[in-house]
Amino acid sequence: MLAWIKVIREPPDADSVAKVKNYRRKRSDFSVYAGNAAFMSNRFAEIAFPTPVRRCFTYSVPAGLELVPGVRVWVSFGNQRSIGMVVRLHSEVPSFRTKPVLRVLDRKPVLDEGLLTLTEWIHRFYYCSWGEAIQATLPPGLNFQSEKRVRVAESVVVNELNELEKQMVEEFLERSAALQEVRKRWRDGDEAARLKSLLRRGVLEIWEEPSEIGERRSVVWWDRRDERQQKRLESQLPAPGKEAPKWVEGYRLIATLELPAPQKELIQHPLLTPYTLKRMEKEGLIQKFYREEPSELSDEAEDPDSISVLTEAQEDLLSPVVEAMESDRFRSFLLHGVTGSGKTEIYIHALKRALELGKGAVILVPEIALTPQTVYRFRRIFGNRIAVLHSRLGDRERAEAWRALQSGEKRVAIGPRSALFAPVQNPGLYVIDEEHDSSYKQFDPAPRYHARDVALVRARQEEAVVIMGSATPSMNSLYAARKGKHTLLELPERPGGEMPNIRVLDLKHYRNAMRGPLTVELFQAIEGALSRKEQVILLYNRRGYATYIQCGACGHIPQSPDCSVSLTYHRKRDLLLCHYSGYSRRVDRACESCGSSDLILQGSGTQQVEEEVARLFPDAVLLRMDRDSTSGKYAHQKIYDRFLSGQADILIGTQLVSKGLDFPNVTVVGVLQAENELAFPSYRSGERLFQLISQVAGRAGRAEKRGHVWVQTWKPDHPAVGFAQRHDYHGFAKSELEQRMNLLYPPYSRLAKFEFKSRSSGKAAQSAEVFAGLLRRNLPAGSVHGPAPAVIEWMHGHYYWEVILKLKPGLNADGISTLFDRMFEEWESEKPDGSGSVRINVNVDATE
Ligand code: ADP
Ligand code: ZN
Repeated sequence: MLAWIKVIREPPDADSVAKVKNYRRKRSDFSVYAGNAAFMSNRFAEIAFPTPVRRCFTYSVPAGLELVPGVRVWVSFGNQRSIGMVVRLHSEVPSFRTKPVLRVLDRKPVLDEGLLTLTEWIHRFYYCSWGEAIQATLPPGLNFQSEKRVRVAESVVVNELNELEKQMVEEFLERSAALQEVRKRWRDGDEAARLKSLLRRGVLEIWEEPSEIGERRSVVWWDRRDERQQKRLESQLPAPGKEAPKWVEGYRLIATLELPAPQKELIQHPLLTPYTLKRMEKEGLIQKFYREEPSELSDEAEDPDSISVLTEAQEDLLSPVVEAMESDRFRSFLLHGVTGSGKTEIYIHALKRALELGKGAVILVPEIALTPQTVYRFRRIFGNRIAVLHSRLGDRERAEAWRALQSGEKRVAIGPRSALFAPVQNPGLYVIDEEHDSSYKQFDPAPRYHARDVALVRARQEEAVVIMGSATPSMNSLYAARKGKHTLLELPERPGGEMPNIRVLDLKHYRNAMRGPLTVELFQAIEGALSRKEQVILLYNRRGYATYIQCGACGHIPQSPDCSVSLTYHRKRDLLLCHYSGYSRRVDRACESCGSSDLILQGSGTQQVEEEVARLFPDAVLLRMDRDSTSGKYAHQKIYDRFLSGQADILIGTQLVSKGLDFPNVTVVGVLQAENELAFPSYRSGERLFQLISQVAGRAGRAEKRGHVWVQTWKPDHPAVGFAQRHDYHGFAKSELEQRMNLLYPPYSRLAKFEFKSRSSGKAAQSAEVFAGLLRRNLPAGSVHGPAPAVIEWMHGHYYWEVILKLKPGLNADGISTLFDRMFEEWESEKPDGSGSVRINVNVDATE
């Protein structure tokens, strides 16, 4: 470093340029060279990229470069450089010229063989590119990202730099810095101008590089200068009491504080701002340095002895699970037990056994923010052996957790959907809590995978055991269990607690007895709860912003004649549409069920409902929980904590409030308009309604106090409502499965959705039309539905059209990829002009 400074103070010479060059060469030399003969014959590498193109690309492997599948490489791709992943090595000479692999980015594979095989399966089954599948499995720090970085140019004419410029250039000498950070750090005034000038003159340059793995974010700290100098400078400041600029007063304050301290903390004082601190620095009073941000994971009190003793019923269910783990065999269990019946205790004991057997485990939960209690219970028993993969972890923390799992330092990963891909060593157990939850299916971007189903594939591959638990198992899982694919475990009782009482209120009878959105009964129940200082949860579900027409007299929502889903109202065309079959008709003048002309356009939001409830209970403290109120990093946790600690009386929200939370002081739960769920056009809406009522009812009265649930609905006769009211899961399943069988919906078919996305409505529609035509030619009658506009036909400047396929239920990855490959081949020769701008997304096992 010093030598270099000396050099640049002298006129430029060959030597100083050479030094910079040498330094640069060393830096870029993280390729791994080894003359391992075993790899010499593999002269070509198949490389996957995270683009939608479904094929891999062939590159040549320079002699002496050691490659194994699962490592990332740096290559030319198109007219830029990109990170790709080696998925296969071979020596079949291709018929075209290949480019060489430029650099190897990993010393050890970031994806082991098992996970690489799994991504290949995802690639074939969910019909995405292999690279997209790989992308989904890797944490950000170990992914395909490259970034723009700033570095010192190859040769610098040193005597053209002034002192300040040299100081700035020095910062980049040791290593390049991310452009984004650089811009943030020198964003004001002189410094920004200096940076710009150095870039313009080519002293500094911007360069695309692979993102550095798990780079720590650094934060600004401030410290004192050496004492003697400080004393001298202090004596020059205006005497205390005299009028002085703000920074001088700030400095007097800082002299009393404990330093070093992070800037974030210092600027809590009104006298200290980034600006005054900088000013003090300029005066030579304090100095700044950078420190890595500490990792956030706190050590909650670990208490392994607090593990419960299982009841006899729980033991009976656990024993086949343990047996399967002991014999290293794949086996899957569907654990059905009402909320509070002790499923989590079974997971905990299964995990304990897995660890004793030297196995690792993956625990999937719907959303960490919604399941803090579950995570807490695991952490309390197993402490630091568990890596918690919050969605709010920073890139570096995520990469660290990944490494800790890969090295075997941690044995268990717990987290949402993507935790499924955690590189747990020797995994013996997969737990999928709330297996019916829709967050396990990824919608966007590709791969549109279902974490439960991929977990089953991964477990089979690794001879591991899967436990899927739910109070309301999905129809798919229940059906699979009936077919003998999973072992059904039933936990019928709720130890030490009654099931909440569910009352159904027929909105038809309350037309003149409503208090805003509340029936008189629910209104009075809330009043009662508030007067007893108990809490209330109100659920107002509004999904997907679908608008629909509802009869104000009888509550009827028009249905598609052959698909048994609700018709969506499309304002633009003033039509009612079925997004499954494409059926459409003009908006009716009168209700087709009762003849009333009192038709209402539905689709109001939780915010509006919140305002009305607030007016009805002016003294109550309200909290709202929906996607809009929970966009902040800790928003969920905050709402949750505030409600749990009794700082609010009423929690009002979308289906988010029905998930996983346990509030002992809640005695009244209201579902304001249950059939909103049914209005969303999906074959699963009945199932979702049943789950919703059952799950939200589970929030009530989990402690000593018995809960009461009020379900307001226009459709008291809907089977989902009645069965949920009677806590009759199996009754519901019977009726629902019968209906699915009649209409050939899953599990009696496998749905695949092709989505056509374009800025032009006409092109999206035309492409969908042509595609549907070629599918119809190739597939059995009745299996192709559409084309039709999507439920949300227009979003962010794009139009969406859909074609839905009902495939044979048993169609596997081979079947799907072969069939779709053939269809896309035909598409290539038949596609209409202008369809190049239409993006086709494939969603296998579409859940809507
Ligand atoms: P679920 O996961 O099915 O909702 P939990 O495992 O959370 O059920 O159990 C509900 C409550 O009952 C929890 O407070 C749990 O600690 C308690 N519980 C369940 N099984 C036992 C047991 N065997 N011994 C003691 N407490 C238990
Ligand atoms: Zn009507």
